Amino acid sequence: MTARRWLGRLLNLLYPPKCPFCGALSPGGEASLCPRCEQALPWAEGTFSAQGFDSGVFVLYYEGAVRESLLRYKFGGCSGYAGVYGPLLAQRIAEGLGGRFDLISYVPVSRWRRATRGYDQSELLARAVARCYGVLPVATLHKRRQNRTQSQLHSADARRANVSGVYMPVGPERFAGQRVLLIDDIVTTGATLSEAARTLRAAGAADVVCAALAGKR
Ligand SMILES: [Zn+2]
Repeated sequence: MTARRWLGRLLNLLYPPKCPFCGALSPGGEASLCPRCEQALPWAEGTFSAQGFDSGVFVLYYEGAVRESLLRYKFGGCSGYAGVYGPLLAQRIAEGLGGRFDLISYVPVSRWRRATRGYDQSELLARAVARCYGVLPVATLHKRRQNRTQSQLHSADARRANVSGVYMPVGPERFAGQRVLLIDDIVTTGATLSEAARTLRAAGAADVVCAALAGKR
């Protein structure tokens, strides 16, 4: 047995893979969605739109076990959940946005947030989605300052103002004339995705479509 496989088995013993939504032990060596959650989770349907992009999809409604799972993913260090979230989101993207994008990107957190958290949850999600397509995500945006958390702000106007001008295009030649799929973890009013999409279009993107793991009902 190679050292890597041995280490993998040891880690599975110490931290057995679990369903990221309810904590049920997963059979086999990898975390997976359990059959009960597959039945019981609040699956979303249809598409949404906001200023800056005309089509977006999300997988689940942001409530109950979904909300708690995402809070552990973002704030509790459970970055491994991306391995389960990614294929769920990839499937939803294939159904709702298939053939409508040339590259996969994401809405980044600030450098400060990434350093304190240790990872960028949207980038990890985009990586897991891109893996299903056999590609790598492309970094197209940089968040130039740490603004207030959108969830602390309640009016749509306050949320729009809070994100105005916070993103800067990175290497516009990578996406000029291309249709970009922009991935984020949660969409509520769509203000963040709108601002990110606006920035990409202004820098030459031909079209922007969006996808998130969870959204508001
Ligand atoms: Zn479960």
